[in-house]
Amino acid sequence: MNQIKTKPPLARAEANRATPTLLPTDHLEEVRAWGGVTSSLSYVYRPITAEALHEVLLLARRSGRSVGLRGGGNSYGDAAMNTENIVVDIRRMNRILDWNPETGRIRLEPGVTLAELWQYVLEDGWWPPVATGTSFTTMGGSAAMNVHGKNAYKAGPIGDHIIEFDLMLASGETITCSREANSDVFHAAIGGFGMLGIFTSLTMQMKRIYSGLLDVETCARANLDEMFTYFDENTGRSDYVVGWIDSLAGGKALGQGDVHRANYLPPGEDPTPAQTLRLENQHLGPNLFGVVPRSIIWVFMQPMMSDVGVRFVNFGKHMLGSVSGVKRYRQPHVQFHFLLDYVPEFKRAYGPGGLIQYQPFIPKETAGDAFRDILSLCQRRGLPNYLTVLKRHKPDDFLMTYAVDGFSLAMDFRVTSANRQRLTWLTRELDEIVLAAGGRFYFAKDSTLRPEVARAYLGDETIARFHELKHRCDPDGLLQTDLWRRVFPQS
Ligand SMILES: Cc1cc2nc3c(=O)[nH]c(=O)nc-3n(C[C@H](O)[C@H](O)[C@H](O)COP(=O)(O)OP(=O)(O)OC[C@H]3O[C@@H](n4cnc5c(N)ncnc54)[C@H](O)[C@@H]3O)c2cc1C
Repeated sequence: MNQIKTKPPLARAEANRATPTLLPTDHLEEVRAWGGVTSSLSYVYRPITAEALHEVLLLARRSGRSVGLRGGGNSYGDAAMNTENIVVDIRRMNRILDWNPETGRIRLEPGVTLAELWQYVLEDGWWPPVATGTSFTTMGGSAAMNVHGKNAYKAGPIGDHIIEFDLMLASGETITCSREANSDVFHAAIGGFGMLGIFTSLTMQMKRIYSGLLDVETCARANLDEMFTYFDENTGRSDYVVGWIDSLAGGKALGQGDVHRANYLPPGEDPTPAQTLRLENQHLGPNLFGVVPRSIIWVFMQPMMSDVGVRFVNFGKHMLGSVSGVKRYRQPHVQFHFLLDYVPEFKRAYGPGGLIQYQPFIPKETAGDAFRDILSLCQRRGLPNYLTVLKRHKPDDFLMTYAVDGFSLAMDFRVTSANRQRLTWLTRELDEIVLAAGGRFYFAKDSTLRPEVARAYLGDETIARFHELKHRCDPDGLLQTDLWRRVFPQS
């Protein structure tokens, strides 16, 4: 959303060079934020080996350009963009390097997607310990953002399940990091949004499962208080809990919505685990109601992407939920986790202006009041959001953490030429509420964070520590992105 000032990268390195190498224009491509709000031209490279990746770093130095990393490009804003510089698309580095079906330990290249990962381990009775709302994310991009799932309150972020990784530094040297070796880099590169080095391999622990199905329960909640009570009563006895909030409901119904919770089946509960764990019993299915191809559902969603349309859908959904009471059923893992993947390109329903997401993380003591203020303010400003997701979290020990012992509220806002400026103002007002409540922000979802807000929630000491590590791992500032220049402009 903010104007990005591209500062000349590698100023120091460039000063020592007479004529920088020109990069071939056939590598110039448009690179977009996932939400579609910004796009820019970059020189895109797609190495397949660590050696080829090193070559790109050398080329970047010769050309005086910086290097931004990109996995699946699922960060909503500019985290995987590097305007007028080099973007390394890591997706072709996607080999499984080692798999032990006895222990559930896997070593893989960073371009392996979550979809490729679960498909690889499932039939051996394992599942990724942390699953994001889309399975198109890569493991490198997930580690760089330290992503979480609907079990964040229990399993923590993905970093808690990473045992070790190899990190290629800007010099081309590769170091191995774990909780024991290079522990400071380990705790900062996870969640370090690609600024300290490039993950070239990751070793992770998978989660043992005894069925391809989850026990799922869904029910409607009448307002935010009821939502919080449900989380309080159920997180202790559930493997996953998530709330889908109707952000258009006001008054006594503020924060109303549906909650979904799920549990793994214990050993022996599924009579046919070999069947339910088969890949073909997990897929989302090609058609809606057996007729409408999933690939075109977004077209039918378009007319719904207005206040009236969303109000209508939410009302219907909530009434149905209230009337049918608590529903219990068994569902394949994939259907529970990747609901958003069910409609490929669903973001296109938001129209040509795209969408931004705003996801604050707020301690449990202040979350209720803060979320009430946030939802009411969005309504008063005439800028309600159309998809709003409530999750419970716990703190972690990673340097740039966004996590709190509390809740997050992820809100998708449609962007149009008419509301763009008003949305920017709104997010500034929301920032004040979040900071006053002791909240934090998440780079993976961000498009609007300003340096002073990042400084306020991260603190000077943490930022200084991150800069120190950045200087050690990347002294010439070779690794950069638009997000880095926007949020840490003095770097
Ligand atoms: C529909 C949808 C649902 C989502 N649901 C969730 C959710 O439930 N929970 C959650 O936490 N997030 C969620 N996200 C956000 C998403 O998980 C994160 O943005 C994640 O980082 C995306 O992974 P990616 O491979 O697409 O990475 P990208 O977006 O391409 O990159 C993310 C960051 O990783 C860096 N990077 C990429 N590869 C490497 C590498 N090899 N080494 C070092 N740095 C690297 C990039 O520079 C960038 O800073 C969702 C996003 C979408 C679109």
